[in-house]
Amino acid sequence: MGRKIPSICIYCAGGCGVLATVIDDAIIEIEGDPDHPINEGALCSKAAAYIQLVNNDRRLLTPMKRTNPRKGVDEDPGWVPITWEEAFKIIAELRMFTNYLINLFNSLIKCPLNHAKVVLV
Ligand code: SF4
Repeated sequence: MGRKIPSICIYCAGGCGVLATVIDDAIIEIEGDPDHPINEGALCSKAAAYIQLVNNDRRLLTPMKRTNPRKGVDEDPGWVPITWEEAFKIIAELRMFTNYLINLFNSLIKCPLNHAKVVLV
């Protein structure tokens, strides 16, 4: 019943094959692909719960930003939804700051006896 669409699990680097059963454009089941050479039909518990990632009504649909800088068991992180544009801007700013720190570090460790260099991939 339904179409079985082969795909690859993205939860870790294992690359296990999955079959998604689709009815009326909705995924109703995820199972291991018995023809896949890596997992031969088996799935770990993370992938077995994949269906929750798609169909759970508590699934996050927008990026979230933490607004409380204090951390701890009793601290409310104060997550607030933000737009994708805001999220990309924050990521770009962090990337630029990281590049600045890497360049600073590389300039500090530069000496004739030390050819080590930090590279951000
Ligand atoms: S099924 Fe489990 S082990 Fe395989 S790729 Fe997914 S998370 Fe990794």
